[in-house]
Amino acid sequence: ESLSNKIAAGEVVERPASVVKELLENAIDANSTIIEIEIEEAGLSQIRIIDNGDGIMADDVKRAFQRHATSKIKDEHDLFRIRTLGFRGEALPSIASVSIFELKTSTGDGPGTRILLEGGTIKEYDASSSRKGTDISVSGLFYNTPARLKYMKTIHTELGNISDIVNRLALSHPEVSFRLTHNEKKLLHTNGNGDVRQVLSAIYGINIARKMIPINGETLDFKLSGYLALPEITRASRNYISTMINGRFIKNYALAKAITEGYHTLLPIGRFPVVLLSIEMDPILVDVNVHPSKMEVRLSKEQELGALITQTIKEAFQERVL
Ligand code: ADP
Ligand code: MG
Repeated sequence: ESLSNKIAAGEVVERPASVVKELLENAIDANSTIIEIEIEEAGLSQIRIIDNGDGIMADDVKRAFQRHATSKIKDEHDLFRIRTLGFRGEALPSIASVSIFELKTSTGDGPGTRILLEGGTIKEYDASSSRKGTDISVSGLFYNTPARLKYMKTIHTELGNISDIVNRLALSHPEVSFRLTHNEKKLLHTNGNGDVRQVLSAIYGINIARKMIPINGETLDFKLSGYLALPEITRASRNYISTMINGRFIKNYALAKAITEGYHTLLPIGRFPVVLLSIEMDPILVDVNVHPSKMEVRLSKEQELGALITQTIKEAFQERVL
């Protein structure tokens, strides 16, 4: 059991940012409206996530650390119609197996529960405060897998990865307030008022956010919305192109390419736009089970979608020029 957790950890928990992603997705799934993320030394020293969500009932706390103990799949049909972010029931046991993991949680009625695990083994289990929500602290990440620890990139790179994850989740959840600090320095603060523009502004700064125009497009199968930075604002990498399907950030090369094609000749060679594109479609058209990190997806009707994206972006700029 402990070995299979460690193996799963290799897939789910590649780096501190993957821990942050899994824990944040859980907090979002639990209907949190405020999520605080406190990072020390790019997550290698500590990752602490405090949410004000539903909490976990005392009887379910230990079970949450058993593999495939997801509360989110009701029957196997659900696997193909995934709406909630998490669904594999592997994150908590995997992360706990490679760290010192402390969780305090309460549903708000009655006392809460506290559990402490080291390398996946429960060391302490007792009552905690009854403040509604969940407070998780992951420290000593990879302490018992030295090879993985040695492989970690510089603090700078790891922190960049964490920032990316938090930014994306903030963009896809403007109704949630995210507060990210690193070594007590404030990195991001969104106010959770539901306005994507406020999130864009918190991430990119007010000057760029002001130069992003809204887009909308629709066919029978797809509904597009989002924001495009004017072509005068470019970046040296594709990292500023963010694509979401049904509220979840995804990676798909064809879609990123369709976006840059929409900018057509407006971009200098080697430069890329800043874009936030959100796509709604029948989940049956998306295969999210390609990679455990759930970022890479395969799509049916990829060409039709790509054409719609390129067309919608071209039109947005044509209308602007006229
Ligand atoms: P999954 O998210 O795939 O169900 P996880 O291992 O990430 O699996 O989490 C296991 C279970 O623990 C979840 O299904 C959920 O019931 C509970 N849980 C984890 N984190 C939280 C949280 N922040 N708030 C409330 N419940 C949580
Ligand atoms: Mg999860």
